[in-house]
Amino acid sequence: SERLFGGFRKTSERLTGNLSGIVGKSRLDDAQLDEIEDALIMSDLGPRAAARIRERLAQERFERGEIDSGDERAIMEVVAREIADILRPVAKPLDIVAFPRPQVILTIGVNGSGKTTTIAKLAHLFQEQDYAVMLAAGDTFRAAAIGQLGVWAERLDVPIVKGPEGGDPASVVFDAVKAATDDGTDVLIVDTAGRLQNKRELMDELAKIRRVLGRLNPEAPHDVVLVLDATNGQNALSQIEIFKEVAGVTGLIMTKLDGTARGGVLVAAAEQYGLPIHAIGVGEKIDDLRPFNPDLLARVIAG
Ligand code: GDP
Repeated sequence: SERLFGGFRKTSERLTGNLSGIVGKSRLDDAQLDEIEDALIMSDLGPRAAARIRERLAQERFERGEIDSGDERAIMEVVAREIADILRPVAKPLDIVAFPRPQVILTIGVNGSGKTTTIAKLAHLFQEQDYAVMLAAGDTFRAAAIGQLGVWAERLDVPIVKGPEGGDPASVVFDAVKAATDDGTDVLIVDTAGRLQNKRELMDELAKIRRVLGRLNPEAPHDVVLVLDATNGQNALSQIEIFKEVAGVTGLIMTKLDGTARGGVLVAAAEQYGLPIHAIGVGEKIDDLRPFNPDLLARVIAG
């Protein structure tokens, strides 16, 4: 968690920086609550989470006696408590529960979001839990994507099913599910192309993958995990919107939360979409995937 505090330092500094100009002037009145609400929005927490936190501050002011606006600590504690309350309902690890096996996890996300790295991190995590893991290189659009996933598979010593560049992703997925079933694999992680530039094609491609999966196992895909880059800020939120519609997202993993000042989007995503958040990425290394721990994260974000 040292690493986590370090990683979120810029996010936390931004939030406390935005708030510090406000608090400490006079008693916490409505005008100050307005300013605090604005500062929270400026810190990427989004209008809904900001309104909730404002409400909580107002409540504490009336119900627990005046909070002195000079008491920055008291205010930050209220902020942290409300952030924890926003994050708690969406905390949900990716559990391997599918029966029959394998559990099929589709991963989606735009190129550069950290999808490939996240697949490798997940594979590693499941290996550590003694599950048999297999990868499927379903992003046949980019040769580099197939190659990069292959490198991770080799490094982690997990089997990978690939097709030719430009090949049919659904046929790769078909082969992978058959292989995974034959091998008694517990979890199959499928990479897909993140081509948002052509929504129609992407939708058709994902629909075809789903059809093929459904034919082999009506429960599959068990998870559709959207990988988001936190450094994209509000843009990451609009990606949730689009991929929810295009891909039927069942959960999120947010990456690159280390060293960005935009970690507030994690709170905005939780409040605005309520989708499960499975884990967060805090670095480029294989074990830089962290469980989504709401209370710890709230403390890390609200300094
Ligand atoms: P993809 O195009 O979505 O598959 O993205 P990649 O997995 O290739 O990642 C793009 C870049 O982001 C690479 O340089 C990764 O090392 C880096 N990256 C991925 N996840 C994280 C993270 O959590 N933190 C940081 N700092 N970098 C990350």
